[in-house]
Amino acid sequence: MNLYEHEAVSGIYRKYGVPHADFVVATEPNDEVARFVADHGGAVVKAMVLVGKRGKAGAVKLVKTPDEAAGAVRDIMAMKVWGETPVAVMVCEKADIVAELYCAMTFSTETRGPVITLSMQGGMDVEEIDPANIKTFPVSAAAEVEPFEIRNMLVEIGFTKEYGAILRQASMAIANVYKAFWGAECRMLEINPLAVVKVRKTDRKTGQKVDVLDLRALDAVVTLDDDASVAPQKTYGERSAFRRDSTQREVDALQIDRDDHRGKAGSYVEPEDLGGDIGMMTFGGGGSAVTIETCYDAGLRPANFSDIGGNPPAEKMYRISRIILSKPGLQGVLVCGGTASNTRIDVTLGEGLVSAIDDLAKEGTLDRDLIWVVRRGGPEVEKGLKLLAECFQRHGIKGVIYDSTLPITQAPLILKDLLVQHRGYRPGKAASAQGA
Ligand code: GDP
Ligand code: MN
Repeated sequence: MNLYEHEAVSGIYRKYGVPHADFVVATEPNDEVARFVADHGGAVVKAMVLVGKRGKAGAVKLVKTPDEAAGAVRDIMAMKVWGETPVAVMVCEKADIVAELYCAMTFSTETRGPVITLSMQGGMDVEEIDPANIKTFPVSAAAEVEPFEIRNMLVEIGFTKEYGAILRQASMAIANVYKAFWGAECRMLEINPLAVVKVRKTDRKTGQKVDVLDLRALDAVVTLDDDASVAPQKTYGERSAFRRDSTQREVDALQIDRDDHRGKAGSYVEPEDLGGDIGMMTFGGGGSAVTIETCYDAGLRPANFSDIGGNPPAEKMYRISRIILSKPGLQGVLVCGGTASNTRIDVTLGEGLVSAIDDLAKEGTLDRDLIWVVRRGGPEVEKGLKLLAECFQRHGIKGVIYDSTLPITQAPLILKDLLVQHRGYRPGKAASAQGA
């Protein structure tokens, strides 16, 4: 799960002692924002979105007065940042930046352990940094790295050329970043910029104001491990790929894989406009992608999307089948996937899907007007498709069933023809949301 910057700062930076700017979060101009800006003599107003490059999109604004801040809050909340609507703004204490470092921690498949990436050329996109000026250091898979290890890394990237005076402080700060990365069970934690800043401090002896250098994490891009010991959605709530709240069906589907680790049946999303009229029971990453692409191409309007695989047991297949079929406004159902190598067709279709249909019929909620097209191959396919065919027959379901002799890309076209013929379906783009 990806976190918004304010979630990462208040939930992770604070907890692990990563130095950051003072801030408040708001969704509209208010007294707290005005007071904050007045007290700090200005601020930086930033859009809370999950997409990067906010600076380039004009979604990071420097303001001097409470009035300017109010305007910036309003402007940013009304904007789309690379297509994404901000959920809030962060109003941050303005930093007097002297240098911008790039700092990221993640896991490397090459060293099979955590790595720390550092560069003195932060601020810009990581892809634009000259490879000679960015270094990746493998560290051992432990909860902490020693500050002296970080110190050596900082020396190697040239930090001491100008900022030797705060080497110790910087090493401790980055050691804390690592503690945060590990402790919060991140897959990735990127700080760009990790800034060397000038701060005014009162000298204890002389009582005079002096400028001193310090380090501040001015950004936070965090991906938490979805398999963390504490499920991220317990702390941060459910979140969909579309940056909207998850629908109840999406939430229910996720639970399927949490309740039982065997196979995958819980990856389920509904389109952003929540419309569509084709139930999509699709299998495998590739098979599912090809199927949905072909549907859109043919003018069919998928109402949901799943990629089921890894040989889930019948109970999981039963649950996802009921979720897919419960989407309102369906006209047809496409059950489509490649030729499975280990997903049992008799178990998934012959048992799981069949018992879902049987139960809906028993409960009196089976929609017999739906038109079904099935295309599937794999272990025990003959048995599985036969059980499904018998089920269709027993309930008077209009459906045609193919094995893998039919190309995947034909299945959506066959469904379209049947829908046009029997239901007067009009292929084309979704007109508007038909309600969740
Ligand atoms: P991003 O573009 O989404 O990575 O957003 P950032 O939070 O990293 O902000 C973009 C840029 O704004 C940074 O690289 C900084 O150069 C600048 N910036 C952020 N905070 C401050 C600040 O407090 N003071 C100044 N002067 N610049 C800032
Ligand atoms: Mn940044």
